[in-house]
Amino acid sequence: MARYTGPVCRLCRRHGEKLFLKGEKCYTPKCPLERRRTPPGYRPHSRPRKLSEYGLRLLEKQKAKRIYGVLERQFRRYFEMASKLPGLTGENLLKLLERRLDNVVYRLGFAESRPQARQLVCHGHFKVNGRRVNIPSYLVKPGDVISWKEGEEDRFPYQSAVQRVKEVKLPSWLSLDQEKLVAKVLGEPTREDIGYSINEQLIVEYYAR
Ligand code: SF4
Repeated sequence: MARYTGPVCRLCRRHGEKLFLKGEKCYTPKCPLERRRTPPGYRPHSRPRKLSEYGLRLLEKQKAKRIYGVLERQFRRYFEMASKLPGLTGENLLKLLERRLDNVVYRLGFAESRPQARQLVCHGHFKVNGRRVNIPSYLVKPGDVISWKEGEEDRFPYQSAVQRVKEVKLPSWLSLDQEKLVAKVLGEPTREDIGYSINEQLIVEYYAR
């Protein structure tokens, strides 16, 4: 499947905020957004472009897709799933995205970014309830136990995760044994757990047009 392989910092500049796509660099002064917040192609003397209603909704949808590393067709499928669930469609959509295995691996601190988490999952580094899962879009549910595959302890991804998990602020719906690096899903994510400045209502309006 085609994925965006261009410069990811450009995406953050397009949205004017950090999307945390690069791991460690995002938290250091090396992050380009620490120096300039102008969008790609910005010319200092040109008149600022005013976005239409449609443009605003499109940009918000693109932001959510880029944060979670999901392509259009899959994102639309999440939206359709969300619209059939009880409650607010926008919130349901974000909760579904949060429950993706690659996102959970990132939230736990097992990987430094979502793209890295996706790669680790694809390479089969993790087990869910004792069974190896290599599908980044796998949706975890309450009670699931996420652990590393046997024999990972001496390898670099595991070793760097040992350090990282001590600094990560865990969302309330996940628990982690920091010694064994075994995590458990305690419940459903809440809107507060998601934390990003995504206006989910604009995404709902985008698909409702
Ligand atoms: Fe975005 Fe991270 Fe690049 Fe900063 S370093 S612009 S947060 S991807």
